[in-house]
Amino acid sequence: ALALPTAAIMLQDQEAHAAEMERTFIAIKPDGVQRGLISEIVSRFERKGFKLVAIKIVIPSKDFAERHYHDLKERPFFNGLCDFLSSGPVLAMVWEGEGVIKYGRKLIGATDPQKSEPGTIRGDLAVVVGRNIIHGSDGPETAKDEINLWFKPEELVNYTSNAENIFHF
Ligand code: ADP
Repeated sequence: ALALPTAAIMLQDQEAHAAEMERTFIAIKPDGVQRGLISEIVSRFERKGFKLVAIKIVIPSKDFAERHYHDLKERPFFNGLCDFLSSGPVLAMVWEGEGVIKYGRKLIGATDPQKSEPGTIRGDLAVVVGRNIIHGSDGPETAKDEINLWFKPEELVNYTSNAENIFHF
């Protein structure tokens, strides 16, 4: 077995690395929650080695959904999309790790599940674009904005996981 130094077991690191660590906003939409896919989806991010730093279940208001999707307000599906996002519980999360924004999008797969590769979340678990079960920030700026929209700073937890001590050898 791999021996871990005792000090590495649970390093509480309240400020040091948080500033430079990459974070992304991931949400399981109401269809994913209703279909019982929370554990399946969380598990894929967790097993990859990303670190969960915030999580909550909320029913967003229509107004909140419109703020989240403001970039899409000219699209014909905007109203239906915001109605749907606010129709039931959403699992909102922040995941942290090296390359988590881009790789999170890879884990999720293409927007249209018909075009998502098998092995991706949408490829394996969804069929139609209007019910594609998951959202993930598409870049560093949107990640920052979306984390700020969905979470208060004190809801984000800074800690060092054992996995980090293995990855950053
Ligand atoms: P992504 O979620 O992959 O970042 P977009 O930001 O382009 O994709 O779109 C946001 C969401 O809007 C999609 O996840 C999907 O639920 C919905 N959507 C996108 N395109 C369509 C469409 N043509 N018809 C219906 N809904 C759509």
